[in-house]
Amino acid sequence: MDAPLPTLDRPRRIELDARDTVAIVVNSGGLKAGATFDDGLTLVDDVPQGHKVALVDMKQGDAVVRYGEILGHAVRDLPKGSWVDEFSVELPEAPALDALPLATRPAPVVEPLEGFTFEGYRNADGSVGTRNILAVSESVQCVAGVVDHVVEIIRRELLPKYPNVDDVVALSHVYGCGVAINAPAAIVPIRTLQNLALNPNFGGEVLVIGLGCEKLRPERLMPNLSEADAAANVLSLQDERFVGFEAMVAGILEMAEERLKKLNARRRETCPASDLVVGVQCGGSDAFSGVTANPAVGFAADLIVRAGGTVMFSEVTEVRDAVHLLTPRCATEEVGRALLREMAWYDRYLAAGETDRAANPSPGNKKGGLANVVEKALGSIVKSGSSSISAVLAPGEKAVTKGLIYAATPASDFVCGTLQLASGMTVQVFTTGRGTPYGLAAAPVIKVATRSDLARRWHDLMDVDAGVIATGEASVEEVGWIIFREILAAASGKKPWSDRWGLRNSLALFNPAPVT
Ligand code: CA
Repeated sequence: MDAPLPTLDRPRRIELDARDTVAIVVNSGGLKAGATFDDGLTLVDDVPQGHKVALVDMKQGDAVVRYGEILGHAVRDLPKGSWVDEFSVELPEAPALDALPLATRPAPVVEPLEGFTFEGYRNADGSVGTRNILAVSESVQCVAGVVDHVVEIIRRELLPKYPNVDDVVALSHVYGCGVAINAPAAIVPIRTLQNLALNPNFGGEVLVIGLGCEKLRPERLMPNLSEADAAANVLSLQDERFVGFEAMVAGILEMAEERLKKLNARRRETCPASDLVVGVQCGGSDAFSGVTANPAVGFAADLIVRAGGTVMFSEVTEVRDAVHLLTPRCATEEVGRALLREMAWYDRYLAAGETDRAANPSPGNKKGGLANVVEKALGSIVKSGSSSISAVLAPGEKAVTKGLIYAATPASDFVCGTLQLASGMTVQVFTTGRGTPYGLAAAPVIKVATRSDLARRWHDLMDVDAGVIATGEASVEEVGWIIFREILAAASGKKPWSDRWGLRNSLALFNPAPVT
């Protein structure tokens, strides 16, 4: 057992802005009524760790303020020192999208960051992978069982012959047939599949397994391939040359081995940090997320952008309530309008499902102290750091510019991860307060714990402990530099915990279009 930290012997809380009317309790296990902070504030209720304590006497209807922003309004009188739980705060309206300032706050001028490199796999199109993986794409779920069977054989029998190839992955999904393929929103899953196959970690070697009668024709999956290339890269199971299952397996293995030979000839080379494409997201968030892990990730994101690289942040429902803090940071009004377009699209998507953004916080989020989606969003956007937003991508679009990019995705961990991979992400940084063993097969995932309790309990799942920021043992900047160096190391081949254990979540397509 670790000795208790001296800084935690006494009641400790964190407030973030001089305007805040609430602060969160830091102490592990929470604090009991009667506990008194150093400045004399005494709790009148028991307050769990990460939950909010009223710093002032609030009347019913008064604004509850954290991060200097209004989380909502008090539903009843909240005396100083009381527990401000999720039931004490009424959710406000989301910011209206029609009157927000666009591109009014230029990014702070910062020195370019030079001299940082990683060992990556440079591709013919100029992109750089952090892994050397054979991907087997599928045009339809019907073929998934066959592909899984073949991938198992490749892993067992072929990969040992090609030691420079890191892995083989099936890009399995439930799309491809039984769907309204010409519905406008079908563009989302279709371009996601198109762009997933082009992820830099797959080395530009395309292999698509189709069935033959599906709606998503392989040529639609790869619109830029010539007819000859398509013939060389696509195998359809219904092709009459295959007599029986074993013939199909042999056919796929033959195509796979050609690609393994090419991938195996590749070597890592020293690349500037500007070639990185880093995705950031959070999952299982708590009230510490916006205080410890996310600010440290934001600091690391600023370092990547200063180095000329690319950072994507996402998760529309965790941005929507803080969008008024992001539109001023857009590099141009056009980028600002694109950000508003994605917010409005998602508002309509949720409305069509007869719900709204209040559906976002999970029971675990609330247990961790997050009262509502406003508080979650204010903590979530901190991951974006302080750079200008240089571009906005619709779900599944491929990034074509560098800098800080808003890649619109659902907040769902698996859907966000899949869409960031489609957008070209080659390493992901994932923050968590409640804890998740999340991992991806196609790119390394560095997991950052918001609390030291979690980092200690999950010592072989969490890669970075940002909880030391809350206890005062390290600064946001210090942990930010640790995350930045972990990104360079993971991009160079170091395996984060999820890779060491082989933990892989499924790809999860976002399909907002009808299923037939
Ligand atoms: Ca998420």
